[in-house]
Amino acid sequence: MKVDEIYCKSILTRTSGYLKTVSSHSLNPYVGCGFGRSACGEACYVRFNQWLMRGREWGQFVDVKINAAEVYLQTVEKEKKWARKNGGCFSIFFSSSTDPWQPVERKYRLTRQLLKAMQGDPPDQLILQTHATFILDDIERIQSLSGICGLRVHISIEGDRDRLPGLPPPPCSLEDRMEVLKKFADRGIQTVACLSPLYPMKAPDAFFSRLSKIGISAVVIDHFIQGDGTPDGSRTLKTKLPQAMTEIAPESVDLSYRDAVARIAGKYLPVGISASGFAGHYSHTLDQPEGWPA
Ligand code: SF4
Repeated sequence: MKVDEIYCKSILTRTSGYLKTVSSHSLNPYVGCGFGRSACGEACYVRFNQWLMRGREWGQFVDVKINAAEVYLQTVEKEKKWARKNGGCFSIFFSSSTDPWQPVERKYRLTRQLLKAMQGDPPDQLILQTHATFILDDIERIQSLSGICGLRVHISIEGDRDRLPGLPPPPCSLEDRMEVLKKFADRGIQTVACLSPLYPMKAPDAFFSRLSKIGISAVVIDHFIQGDGTPDGSRTLKTKLPQAMTEIAPESVDLSYRDAVARIAGKYLPVGISASGFAGHYSHTLDQPEGWPA
């Protein structure tokens, strides 16, 4: 793993494309991801971003934006004004192309510094998205922030299987991530399980029932089709993920599988679908929001 310290000129990126419907800004304290060689890294949509990759191998580099918190404080008021003028709400997706609690965070603590900066000057809404149990290192600060801005914790948990055939292990075990969901929900923090990308499920009724009893607020169901930044999942189709899914359940590579799972999830919890789910729009099956399958 090659780790480079870099200085950034900006840290709050005005969103475009898929993310524009989710938040006004994204925030990435790192470029690259230390989880890139685990299961989620195999089909991670960021690895197809040539502008970020610059010829490097995904999972083999991390650029550390060591001045991220300082730049946040220098630019937050300008970006807040821009967001309110353009959309009415200054919302941050933290993070869209890296994991804020990847292994190097324990050394550099950029995410912690940014959360601290936000305590002084918070956004209107903050979405914290991670695969990593290390988020628990900051649970006190996150709880404190949830009292001063609209905050959701999104834990990526692809379903009820820890492993798929032919893929490496996930960054953190399924059970450990279930425990993280519970710890945040127990504190009354809005906590969402993101099945992204959705894996073939063993026992969806039992799984969503368990999530509901844990006390989370909602689930987001996101298939690689419509979820990898292309309308037809063409990026993911170049990876090992579809084959691994097909070996377990061939029907799981069709978008209709997402819709079938969403209907089951809706018996137990509010459900969001793909981008509108990441934006915080949920419903039970009887009350269908934008993006809900027909
Ligand atoms: S943790 Fe997130 S950013 Fe990192 S490899 Fe996995 S999906 Fe990609």
